[in-house]
Amino acid sequence: MGHPSSCGRLVSTCSWLTIRSVLVLLLLASHCGSETRGVQAAADGDKFIDAHSAPACVLQDVACTALGLLKLKGYLSFHDTSAAARDFGLIKHLPPAAVLYPNSVEDVAALIRAVGSSSTNLTVAAKGPGHSINGQAQADKGIVIEMSSMRGIKVMPHGDDDCALPFVEASGGELWVDVLEATLKEAPGLAPNSWTDYLYLSVGGTLSNAGVSGQTFRHGPQISNVLQLEVVTGKGEIVICSPSKQSELFYAVLGGLGQFGIITKARIIIEPAPEKVRWMRAMYSDFEVFKKDQEMLISAMQDPLLTFDFIEGFVVMNNEDPTNGWKSVPFSPDQITASMLPPDASSVLYLLEITLGYNLVDVGPVLEERVEKMLAPLNYIRSLMFSTDVSYFKFLNRIYDLVEVRSRALKLWDAPHPWLNLFVPASSITTFDSLIFKELFPVEFGGPILVYPVNRDKWDSRAATVVPDEEVFYLVAFLRNALPSGPGLESILEDNARILSICEQLRGKQYLPRYIEEAQWKQHFGADQWQAFVQHKQMFDPQAILAPGQNIFPRNPDWMQLSASI
Ligand code: FAD
Repeated sequence: MGHPSSCGRLVSTCSWLTIRSVLVLLLLASHCGSETRGVQAAADGDKFIDAHSAPACVLQDVACTALGLLKLKGYLSFHDTSAAARDFGLIKHLPPAAVLYPNSVEDVAALIRAVGSSSTNLTVAAKGPGHSINGQAQADKGIVIEMSSMRGIKVMPHGDDDCALPFVEASGGELWVDVLEATLKEAPGLAPNSWTDYLYLSVGGTLSNAGVSGQTFRHGPQISNVLQLEVVTGKGEIVICSPSKQSELFYAVLGGLGQFGIITKARIIIEPAPEKVRWMRAMYSDFEVFKKDQEMLISAMQDPLLTFDFIEGFVVMNNEDPTNGWKSVPFSPDQITASMLPPDASSVLYLLEITLGYNLVDVGPVLEERVEKMLAPLNYIRSLMFSTDVSYFKFLNRIYDLVEVRSRALKLWDAPHPWLNLFVPASSITTFDSLIFKELFPVEFGGPILVYPVNRDKWDSRAATVVPDEEVFYLVAFLRNALPSGPGLESILEDNARILSICEQLRGKQYLPRYIEEAQWKQHFGADQWQAFVQHKQMFDPQAILAPGQNIFPRNPDWMQLSASI
């Protein structure tokens, strides 16, 4: 994999404290003896927190002193830190002591250097919109960086002097929905090719994990489509990295769970995007038939004319539940009735979701023949195929339109979301179906279940995300909401633990992983990848300042001891 790598170069490292800052330190040191303090960020024209009117610096003296040296274009706040500890999961809530709203990459670097040199145990977490489930973007009594305060999207339809490929460069805190809008507006007909199902996620947040959706089988996850990153390491260095420059950092950061650096900018490949999408949903009652069709579709990539653009799948309950029963399948619920289902269907059915992009000039018999030809080899239940045509933007933004707006109206968006995402090897997915899909949730589930295959050769093995060791594996996502009317949070978490244990026995891996013990992380990574992960931590964030909410490394780790135990 990989792309022309003329797209990277190394730029500056740290800038050092000014004499003026040292004077501020002396000044602050003389004010820092009392219980309540404000923290002043000094410098001409820069914003600062006034020592008299600001809320107190609730940190240790040394930390207040270190933060007082900061010369910021943005600002540091001790107000409302509770909001920075709220995430989509609503399971953990560990407020930071302070929140940084950076206005430049130098702000981020300055904060990390100040923390690193402060002889404290402060940690720092970059935070996007906080769509994590288990507190991964939280920093207990540390500092959260609200990446949304650093904006910027630059669309380069012809590339630039360094890189001839079309690309979009976005700040780490930008949302993918804004990246999509900007590219379609400024470079009509071009857009990134690999997405997530939901677009209100941040560029830095998904690149720290993988970024997976129905395009992954063909284009790889989002981390396979990055040309260059600007990163602030755990040492406070600002580094531009790419496949050819500082490549070790580049691949460590992609899928690196925020452990090695904060992504402040990413250059993402853009490619031709269709104006419209034929969006199709077809139902199956037999898992083997469903699996065979999905795997045939993801392998048919030699001829672009025979390949759908998007391939996903769902488990559908054999009931009328509006969230994941068969009524949720068609684009209008009145298109389906119970009599249309096979009488011998089991407790679950399966849904194949596919799309084909086209431009308005293509509309006509040729397009219809093409669709027909592509659907012909599939073995779905012929009467249970539903289709609609929408704009490319509307399709990519479907979760917002179909799920978020409705869930917010019903106050479901604010319920706890104990979601579980897994990668299951293709060789085990049938066992998984009989042990989990058919057995564990025979009646109701309370959220969608995704199940679709991807090709491992579209994943760059140099990136840090852990995937099963098999050519084809499935993304399986249990997206349950803990609603007052359904099973409680604890009961869902117990189900998740059982499912994860079965997944691991079947040589699967957890996506967006959450583990408590170091031994579990080692097992997750496997010996070689764990060793590389630890080495990268030692290289890029030796004091373990970054992303404490992932719960992988303790702050100020004893590296000698840790290395000895590898
Ligand atoms: P946060 O939750 O804010 O952060 C996640 C982690 O990344 C934290 O450890 C944080 O410290 C770190 N981080 C954040 N920003 C940066 C940065 N700039 N640099 C370095 N580290 C950073 N995932 C998929 O792959 N495919 C999907 O289709 C998909 N759909 C989703 C739908 C919904 C409704 C939700 C809630 C989540 C979905 N996700 C999906 C999961 C999503 O990828 C993760 O939640 C991911 O963490 C991105 O969320 P975020 O941008 O809010 O990041």
